[in-house]
Order: sequence, then C-alpha cells, then structure tokens
Amino acid sequence: MFTWLTNLFDRATIRLGAARSPQWREVRNKFIKEHPLCAVCGTKKKLEAHHVRPYHEFPALELDESNLIVLCREHHFLFGHFLSWFSHNPDVVSDSKIWYDKIKGRS
Ligand SMILES: [Zn+2]
Repeated sequence: MFTWLTNLFDRATIRLGAARSPQWREVRNKFIKEHPLCAVCGTKKKLEAHHVRPYHEFPALELDESNLIVLCREHHFLFGHFLSWFSHNPDVVSDSKIWYDKIKGRS
C-alpha cells in the first residue's frame, strides 16, 4: 500500500512542478543515518526524511537539513501530511515531540 502511496506522491510532485535535486537521495540517506529514529515513535524501521516546509513551496530548502525531520513511513503520512500527500503539517516538529514524549512515557 505504501509503495502505491509513494508512487502517488511522486506523481503529485511532478504535477506540482518541483523535481527532486540530484543530491536529494544522498542528503536524505545521510540525514537518516545521523537521526536513526522516528521522531514520533522511536522506531528504526522504514524511516523517511520529511520536509518540515514542503519542498514544492520552498525549493531552496530541499537540501537544508534544518528543514528535515525523520519519521517512519506511517508517521510521515499521519504527522507530516495529515493522511493526505497534498497536505502538510506546519507543526510537525512540535507535534512529533509531544507524541514522542507521550509514547516514551506510556505504561
Ligand atoms: Zn513512527
């Protein structure tokens, strides 16, 4: 299912007219290696780098690590995009911190 969603996202990206930089894959991989946990749940599995400010609106920030947060695939879609690749959560950093602390403190 998420492959399908990723493909949909790629198509949406094309429609929005913001092609990825050739350096994106390298920057993303390095960032995930340096931040190897989902910012929401702490898992090390299926990690993705999310743009806090969407890169189709802020293309100059595409490779800016200060604009990235690592989320697992599920939380990327939920916390980063409110379950729609056409939306984005401007509070993803603070929301992730709140939920990380809640999950970490669960009994
Ligand atoms: Zn997660």
